[in-house]
Amino acid sequence: MGKKDVDVRFSKFGTVSFTSITKTNDFIDSLEKGQVMGTRCKKCGQVFFPPRADCFQCLTSDMEWFPVDGEGKLITYSKLQYGPVGFEGDLPYTIAVLDYGKYRVFGRIASDIPDDQLKVGMSMKTAVNSLPNGRVNYVFQKA
Ligand SMILES: [Zn+2]
Repeated sequence: MGKKDVDVRFSKFGTVSFTSITKTNDFIDSLEKGQVMGTRCKKCGQVFFPPRADCFQCLTSDMEWFPVDGEGKLITYSKLQYGPVGFEGDLPYTIAVLDYGKYRVFGRIASDIPDDQLKVGMSMKTAVNSLPNGRVNYVFQKA
């Protein structure tokens, strides 16, 4: 996977993509309680992050929440100089993908981690991050 592909995918990431998910409010509620959650299909076990309300494999909406915890492996990252609409004020920031085995989580590297400490293959964890305006999101921190 080239860097360019990743950037295109990530341009869709953020508040904007979450608003299309029917379970958005539950996801945000969990974040406010300090837990990043994904969904798992009760029928086939397929896991989804970001959480989905329906399983595309069995077309069921019989889903349950699971916590995104433990360590994931940093598989790619990229520093953004140009962000999607709504994120211009945060630039520059670093987006990344963590591989948890059964699923992958994409998001941002915590802003207090210097670029030169990032290495593909390193272990990281997904953590809830409180924003100054009372909102919450999640970032990747060193494990
Ligand atoms: Zn399923």
